[in-house]
Amino acid sequence: MFKNLCKRVINYIGLKYFEKKFFNFFKKIKIDDVYIFDLDNTIANTWVSYLQKYNSHRDRLKSLSIFLGMKKQINDIKSGKIIILTAREYWYSDITEQWLKQNDVKHDLLIIVPKPKDKITLLSKIYHECIYYDDMSYNHEKGDIKFYEEEIKTLSKMKNIKYIDYNEIKKINGEFE
Ligand SMILES: [Mg+2]
Repeated sequence: MFKNLCKRVINYIGLKYFEKKFFNFFKKIKIDDVYIFDLDNTIANTWVSYLQKYNSHRDRLKSLSIFLGMKKQINDIKSGKIIILTAREYWYSDITEQWLKQNDVKHDLLIIVPKPKDKITLLSKIYHECIYYDDMSYNHEKGDIKFYEEEIKTLSKMKNIKYIDYNEIKKINGEFE
């Protein structure tokens, strides 16, 4: 129970911190194009790692391989801002930043939120035109891909967000496989 309470407190503080960072970032930029990328299963080949054994989840996240198609997509962006928006536990912030650096993923901002639905909450509060890449999927490792249906539905209704979904991401990443 104590662990749960700690987690809730960390999530609350973490989310407040990153929310502030996110909105401040948008306050500063005026007419730039904004590209937002999810991390797991969009840039990083995360789900296959669940088929392998690791000593810890930390070790797993450190050793994820990168999708070369998405890496190229990001690094080919010549003008505009790049945000990485991921739902991960806050105690993996350091290795997440390290992983992006080691894999040469250029970005202007890293935002970490506790749950996929928190991404949608953040995105619903901005008015900039954005392109948003996010597979919004899970459960691949069990052979039965599931999607965050509610989140996808809300995303598709956002007028300022051009949503690049699972199928389009697969095409981008498949280019190199
Ligand atoms: Mg993902």
